[in-house]
Amino acid sequence: MENHWKSTDEWAALEGVPAKDEESLNAVGMRMVGDLLDWFPRRYEDRRHFDAFPAAAGGGAVCLRGMVIDSIKKRLGGKRSFYEIVVEEQGGNILSTNTIVCRWFNMPFLHRMVAAGHEVILYGKPKEAGGRLIIDHPEFEVVKEGERNLLHLERIVPVYRNVSGIPQRRLRELVYRCLENLDGASVAPVYELVPGQDRKAALWAVHFPESMEATEAARREFAREEFFILQVNVLWRRKKFRDQSGRSQGQKTALLKEFYESLPFDLTGAQKRSVKEVVADMRDPRPMNRLLQGDVGSGKTFVAMCAMLLAVESGAQAALMAPTQILAEQHYLTFRKWLEPLGVRVALITGAKQESGTLELEGAPQIVIGTHALIYDNVAFENLGLVVIDEQHKFGVSQRGRLIRQGVMPDVLVMTATPIPRTLTLTIYGDLDVSVLDELPAGRGKIVTALRVKPKVSEVGKFVKEQLTEGRQAYLVYPLVEESGSVKAQSATVEHEKWVKRLKGYEVGLLHGKMPPEEKDRVMAQFRGNEVQVLVATTVVEVGVDVPNANLMIVHNAERFGLAQLHQLRGRIGRGEFKSYCILLTDGKSSEGMEKLEVMERTLDGFKIAEEDLRLRGPGEVLGTAQSGISDLRFVDYLADTALIREARDLAEGLLREDPELEGWPRLREMVGDGEGLEVS
Ligand code: ADP
Ligand code: MG
Repeated sequence: MENHWKSTDEWAALEGVPAKDEESLNAVGMRMVGDLLDWFPRRYEDRRHFDAFPAAAGGGAVCLRGMVIDSIKKRLGGKRSFYEIVVEEQGGNILSTNTIVCRWFNMPFLHRMVAAGHEVILYGKPKEAGGRLIIDHPEFEVVKEGERNLLHLERIVPVYRNVSGIPQRRLRELVYRCLENLDGASVAPVYELVPGQDRKAALWAVHFPESMEATEAARREFAREEFFILQVNVLWRRKKFRDQSGRSQGQKTALLKEFYESLPFDLTGAQKRSVKEVVADMRDPRPMNRLLQGDVGSGKTFVAMCAMLLAVESGAQAALMAPTQILAEQHYLTFRKWLEPLGVRVALITGAKQESGTLELEGAPQIVIGTHALIYDNVAFENLGLVVIDEQHKFGVSQRGRLIRQGVMPDVLVMTATPIPRTLTLTIYGDLDVSVLDELPAGRGKIVTALRVKPKVSEVGKFVKEQLTEGRQAYLVYPLVEESGSVKAQSATVEHEKWVKRLKGYEVGLLHGKMPPEEKDRVMAQFRGNEVQVLVATTVVEVGVDVPNANLMIVHNAERFGLAQLHQLRGRIGRGEFKSYCILLTDGKSSEGMEKLEVMERTLDGFKIAEEDLRLRGPGEVLGTAQSGISDLRFVDYLADTALIREARDLAEGLLREDPELEGWPRLREMVGDGEGLEVS
């Protein structure tokens, strides 16, 4: 996201920036004064108090000030060389002088920058070698006499990302000069979130802080504004979408009632609430754009079915797109099971097959279920009124758009079982209305999760057999399809053969992504029908597979899976009334891996797991960089800033309520444009 506090002054506005510096700045993309002010410090050094020279290695990085008393330059043959300086602590102990050695390899020009007689500031992590304390490749600055020394000493000093050709000291001086000359009006906020907000003061606090608290306060100010702008964009887009005229459907509910009565269970409170929200949206002539968020097993399919029945009774068609063949097939079976008795015509379209319930359907299908084939196989919809997208994060924005455009302003319901913290939802799904299934259907068996480090195969086998004897079924998941020379992990293909031998008397199937679709289907159907009791698989079983009789999930090399994946895998069990077991096997070698697996042991709550995932990996990793709007945020910390994020969202909502067209805020209005600019999810 482009920063809107940018001053567009040219370098010329700063007197005395040498042409050489201008070139260096341009080379890293800094073209104007605002870009330099935007070059926020990477870290700070509090040079009011330096660390004492350490007596031993083992601590973290230190910031030292001392005198260079010796330097040695050595060639190691060829182009290899190293340069070493010995730095002595000043004003230290009279009885013992502390020294530390700094070394640089293959940087032959360094002896010209720092040598005996220089006073230096060092930053780095000491280690011990040959009885000496050494910092390899420290960050350093040579202290110079001069008028600007006040910028570099006796204060909290900013340390910037390097700009090749401009040493830290000069960079610091340039930034200082920019700030001194900056016209506060040129960086005034587009929208004053806090009355009397002083952007220039905030920039001072970021670059040359009086205290670390001041910097943090400034960061929060930038974060609040950044998120506010993002939310104005998101809400603007939502408004533009809602302003279109869609269809009003779902007035008649006879079919829905009939469906309710045919179910052997009651919908959960959360399901009922979500259906109500969907009904209201569909009746509203504005197009529906709703996200149904619910943990694995929370019963999203049934909410989707209700919505689709409403569309059907209004005379429209409804389509459901699923990310895999297996899932599409499963939905197809579920839909046929529940809806054919009501006389609803259901069809399946995947790359591999086209099928319709009563093969020759009398009339066009009312409900079409499929994979990507729905958008690529030229399916001719007659009157597509509702589009449902399952596991929406598996589809790109354009794929979602393509299906939607096959209808005339259809209502849209997207579903996801990937729980993400509410603060993130506001961003990546901020333009959708959200229904949450926060309640699991009653009568589910308990799930026990156990972490086992280097267990004996015989014991694992014994446990599997016990469950099979009880009549249950099991998933045995492996990270790889086939053995690989470079990756040390077990593979489904090889282990499958071993399990066949170990589990004589039971059918052991193999399922992985490299199998032809028909074969996957066949194995899946056999597992569903309990003709196969054990499924040795890769993560193809991760998403949505629903076999209530399976109560055992054993994940091998579990440390190789992400938290979200593990949560999905565990969601395959605990779907029937039986007590279920999720057993995570690991070699215990990686401490990060163990930390991750312990999270799984501790909680079943998808939202908690998502939060841990975010903490361990950061939002970019968790959501993928494609989810723009997230990766561009520079100041917002999704875990620490939750209150601030809500506040910014509320402010954005309030603003658009009061001034829906942003007439009073031309600069904001210009920023949001036609609402197409910011692609989210
Ligand atoms: P999700 O798609 O959210 O993972 P599903 O819609 O596949 O969940 O439902 C999971 C399982 O729970 C299915 O076997 C379904 O038949 C069952 N189910 C759904 N809603 C209810 C309910 N209200 N009461 C009992 N069982 C339910
Ligand atoms: Mg509508």
